[in-house]
Amino acid sequence: MNDKPTNSKINIRFVPIGYFPFDFNISRIEKWKSCLFKVHKHEITNPLRTLHQKDGSTYNDSMLLEDISDISKTITPEEQRSFIFVLTNSPVEEGWYSRILAPNAVVMSFSNVRNYLIKEHIPLENAVISLFYMYSLLYKKDSRIPEREVEEAFLHMDTRACIFDMTPSNADIVYCSAGVGICYECSKKLNILGKDLINKEPIRNFV
Ligand SMILES: [Zn+2]
Repeated sequence: MNDKPTNSKINIRFVPIGYFPFDFNISRIEKWKSCLFKVHKHEITNPLRTLHQKDGSTYNDSMLLEDISDISKTITPEEQRSFIFVLTNSPVEEGWYSRILAPNAVVMSFSNVRNYLIKEHIPLENAVISLFYMYSLLYKKDSRIPEREVEEAFLHMDTRACIFDMTPSNADIVYCSAGVGICYECSKKLNILGKDLINKEPIRNFV
């Protein structure tokens, strides 16, 4: 029996939650074509953020995890290589703009970075798509979204306009979101994958 997966791309369950009251076009993200991943938008009705959160308060991990708890049940066998990507404009715990939330789930918040991107005229969609590449490459490397410690060990502290920049200063998001780039060291660590990706896809200045 041939049990080769029918879809070799990584499937990203993209879950935007709440309102994005600035120039931000979600359909650009949904339509993004990559040889590495496929985007599936997933809507949540009545998220806890809307029901219980006061303006400006943190969308905490327990609320986030409860909101996405049913999504994995809807993943089809064809989507087995998949992870959940939650996007919110609310602050999330620990103040990072993106981090691993749970096994095979990550969250991104515009809260601390949107003003830097807007000031430098970088489309906010860029920052999301850059993270799609970053987490998809980590997934491809380990066949899953790794533990946070593994992610932190892979990222570099210095800013190189690379999707694996740790960006300890949120202001540095402008460098890794201007386009999708991978530095020489990260490309080597990912074997040929990162270099190959850059050659195949027109992923600089993509929005
Ligand atoms: Zn790098």
